Amino acid sequence: MTQVSDAGESRRPSNLFYMTRLRRPLVDRAEGIYLWDQNGKRMIDGSSGAMVVNIGHGNRNVLDAMKRQMDRVTFAYRLHFENEPAEELARRLAAKMPGDLDRIFFVSGGSEAVESAIKLARQWAVATGQESRWKVISRFPSYHGGTAGSLAVTGDLALTETFAPQTRTMPKIPPPTAYRDRDNLSMEQRGLRYADMLEEKILAEGPESVLAFIMEPIGGAATAALVPPDSYFPRIRKICDKYCILLIHDEVMTGAGRTGKYLGGEHWNCRPDIIAMSKGIGSGYAPLGAMAASRRLVGPVLDSGGFQHGYTYAGNPLSCAAGLAVLDEMERLGCIANAAAMGDLLKHELEALAERYPFIANVRGKGLLLGADLVANPETLAPLPPARKANQRLVDLAYERGMIIYSRRIRGDGVEADNFMLAPPLIITAEQVGEMVGVLDDSL
Ligand code: PMP
Repeated sequence: MTQVSDAGESRRPSNLFYMTRLRRPLVDRAEGIYLWDQNGKRMIDGSSGAMVVNIGHGNRNVLDAMKRQMDRVTFAYRLHFENEPAEELARRLAAKMPGDLDRIFFVSGGSEAVESAIKLARQWAVATGQESRWKVISRFPSYHGGTAGSLAVTGDLALTETFAPQTRTMPKIPPPTAYRDRDNLSMEQRGLRYADMLEEKILAEGPESVLAFIMEPIGGAATAALVPPDSYFPRIRKICDKYCILLIHDEVMTGAGRTGKYLGGEHWNCRPDIIAMSKGIGSGYAPLGAMAASRRLVGPVLDSGGFQHGYTYAGNPLSCAAGLAVLDEMERLGCIANAAAMGDLLKHELEALAERYPFIANVRGKGLLLGADLVANPETLAPLPPARKANQRLVDLAYERGMIIYSRRIRGDGVEADNFMLAPPLIITAEQVGEMVGVLDDSL
């Protein structure tokens, strides 16, 4: 989604097309936290791609494990064979999930994981005689994926409006952007107030029509590492229980150690009913996603004729072998502890930059999922005029100086903000954090 403007050979003939006409240089190779382009220019991967390459690029042990798997079998269709790497990865992931979320369903990416969660929730409702429940409440702004179902719960008018009315059917509430509010309430009171908006929405929609609530534990692409007040989650869980509504956590970006815990929800001891994951679990080595669901949901669905859902490449042995090796490397390299420690350091440095540059506000995040807003006025937090294209400008300036950062402008429903995120691979060293901060300082 981040658009790096014409930094490459813009007139290179090509049959490929992406989101825009902008062209990037060809990538040549990558190692650790760096990528090199075709001209030999070295770039710091300050966003791990799109918060994907958690264990860093070019990890030998993962590549060797994938080669060993390639020599045995790369694909066997799930209706014909089961495979060992999928079994083992499911077992390892289940052990990391909270509560009784020990049923794992593999997919190939984040949108598919969210799609699977919505469809499992709906099939559970049908299997248990609750056919009237179909609405999935989500938040605006938010990002949950690009497929029709995941897009319907995504809160970003620039991505969804062309596909209306389909994308307007799902109700939205605001995320707790409590740090922006100008009132006399404490942070904790604000957390409760934002959570109560879920109850108000459920009542307005009719509780018997609401199936689930989906949210990221720490807001990612749309809100740049938005951390809720501590009071938010316990109240959300209570409201979901009160109206028998399923709680879906989208951990596609926050999972796999990114925030300094294996799951983002662990910071608050969250107990969702379904978790969607991708990105970091394959860490860029293979397309891989997973849905973890409670036995209570999966049982009735399988008993009532089966889960009417699945993707051809899901759970293929090569992707799962990569996922297993990624888990081993995360443990061996101490990625989660390093994400917490280097995240604290980088956040501290970002706060120091915000002291010096008045147009940076609301530094936030956990672990190595950090973000901040670009504002016109640090007191009022008034947004910069769209014509300034501040987010794009920052991306371009950093790109010229050899660093990739992730930045967006969010618009609509009363929200207007330029923001940016820093999210390097979890193997980053203190020295490399210093290198990132230097490039950012120069770009700012
Ligand atoms: N959910 C979240 C929270 C995401 O950040 C993303 C990707 N940015 C997705 C879902 C969709 O994942 P994918 O692009 O792999 O389909």
